[in-house]
Amino acid sequence: MRRPFIVANWKMNKTVPEAMDFIYSFLPAVAEVKDADIVLAPPFTALFALAERLTGTNVGISAQNLFYEEKGAFTGEVSAPMLVDAGCDCVIIGHSERRQFFYETDEVVNRKTKTALKNGLSVIFCIGESLKEREAGMTFEVLKRQLANGLKEVDFQKLVVAYEPVWAIGTGRTATPEQAREAHQFIRSTLRELYQDGADSVRILYGGSVTPENIDSLMACADVDGALVGGAGLKADSFERIVKFKRGNTW
Ligand code: PEP
Repeated sequence: MRRPFIVANWKMNKTVPEAMDFIYSFLPAVAEVKDADIVLAPPFTALFALAERLTGTNVGISAQNLFYEEKGAFTGEVSAPMLVDAGCDCVIIGHSERRQFFYETDEVVNRKTKTALKNGLSVIFCIGESLKEREAGMTFEVLKRQLANGLKEVDFQKLVVAYEPVWAIGTGRTATPEQAREAHQFIRSTLRELYQDGADSVRILYGGSVTPENIDSLMACADVDGALVGGAGLKADSFERIVKFKRGNTW
């Protein structure tokens, strides 16, 4: 049985006071939720303040990106040791927005993943096909390539995979539970085929227009171990409802 893992990716949203406002109502609302990992991923500028506030609570903290070198002349970049220093538990790597707008390749994603794990961070490793790729029947091929290249020589112990079909991110168009289930089963079997050891303990999250309305049916799929939430993670009450998804009844 894999422990559910629910993350709110705030992207480039929320100042420090806005992050604190969120926490003010969210923390007491979820204090009793002991059977899931709950993680907030604020922008870099709010990491330190939020991490201090979350110490000793049941809510963890993630960065949204890092650079693969540990220090040096890389203006504007943030390293894994810096994230650890700021109080981070995890980091999101390979989000489709980084692949699309910042030209991150599977090789870059692989280097970032290795550096993060080496420094003790958990990695939320994102993969997913575009609409064009899905319509061309290439979904499984794309997922396999991203897993094979992005996770080359990677230790699975602190790894979480997030399946995020690009056509579902921020579009209001969610994958159906059947589509999510099919992709998650494929990812699980590919992890087993490529890497064998440890594949069954890796949690596979679904991401792409997750809302309080669709979280229960997504989490009911046996291979969906959690959610990576964008828009619906910006409001404390909607993220609270997502974290409190209906338990049981998996298929
Ligand atoms: C995301 O940013 O990873 C995401 C899934 O966004 P949204 O929930 O808004 O589609």
